[in-house]
Amino acid sequence: MRVVSGIQPTGNLHLGNYLGAIRNWVRMQDEMEKANRAQAASGSADRNQCLFFLADLHAISMPHEPGELRRATLEMAAALVACGIDPDRSVLFNQAQVPAHPELQWLLNGTARIGWLNRMTQFKDKSGKNREGASAALFTYPVLQAADVLLYQATHVPVGEDQKQHLELARDIAQKFNNDYASEDAPVFTLPEPISPPQAARIMSLRDGSKKMSKSDPSEMSRIDLADDPDTVLKKIKKAKTDPEPLPSEVDGLAERPEALNLVTIYAALSEGTVEDVLRDHGGAGFGAFKPALAELLVETLQPISTRFNALLNDREALDAILARGASRAREIAAPTLASAYTALGLVRG
Ligand code: ADP
Repeated sequence: MRVVSGIQPTGNLHLGNYLGAIRNWVRMQDEMEKANRAQAASGSADRNQCLFFLADLHAISMPHEPGELRRATLEMAAALVACGIDPDRSVLFNQAQVPAHPELQWLLNGTARIGWLNRMTQFKDKSGKNREGASAALFTYPVLQAADVLLYQATHVPVGEDQKQHLELARDIAQKFNNDYASEDAPVFTLPEPISPPQAARIMSLRDGSKKMSKSDPSEMSRIDLADDPDTVLKKIKKAKTDPEPLPSEVDGLAERPEALNLVTIYAALSEGTVEDVLRDHGGAGFGAFKPALAELLVETLQPISTRFNALLNDREALDAILARGASRAREIAAPTLASAYTALGLVRG
């Protein structure tokens, strides 16, 4: 199995990003490791592998601020490593250091059809009423996404609902390219299969249980940042909005209590249990008792992460070295596929 997955670089990372996105990658990496150990025990030499990249080239398809993109890319890389992505076990890099991505995109642009791209609902959603004013990159970024995975002969790609159509497109492009330019017994590209990412928690604002926890919320108190120290975490949880009722013992008792449900959901996600498990243990407790327990669990999980995160952000050399090494491995894995694509198209590269 070769899994390839990308994430948009985003700054000011918070608990929602960790529990909703980053932790899934760590889980995928750990599952791959388990599969490798099992295979080694059964004598197979095949190695499963995860490639994780920061989709910085995708970020320029929308209006963006260059300084912000640079900062967000470094911050996201630091967060991924701090949260458990191990650059020795997974290939971790940013697209901008692997020119094979935009190179292959150009080669695939010859195969992708305008009609196929016209059907992409993400373009319609993101360009809104201003289609004529949208960037050409926004229109063709699904082809870059195809290049992102086909370049590495990915066998599996984790996709949420909104990205299913783009993976279908990647398969269509691969199929047409193979048909048009390769012989049946030596296809250039592997057709990747979609896999559903593990169910991720959706974390809400600490000030308003009906709103998502988000970096764009003007209130610092609405979110726990990955860089927060233990005192700040404690303060934010103590001040989190709640109601005067104690916790119920059954899930039904959380209906119409979005803030209480959110705190229980966070506890459940951190303790790798379910909301039911948390209510079994804490049902009947008031928030005076539950909040300190939650804060303790949060600090226990986040402290090692925030320490490593802050240390890496302050050590540009180490961070640059991690990304450079990941990019170099990615370029190596990509090279034979890129070369085959050039050759198949009749392009002479000297
Ligand atoms: P924000 O909403 O803070 O701007 P982004 O949109 O940059 O965050 O999201 C980056 C990743 O983190 C996405 O995969 C998104 O699904 C996940 N994510 C962001 N906020 C939350 C949240 N409150 N709960 C769960 N996942 C989240």
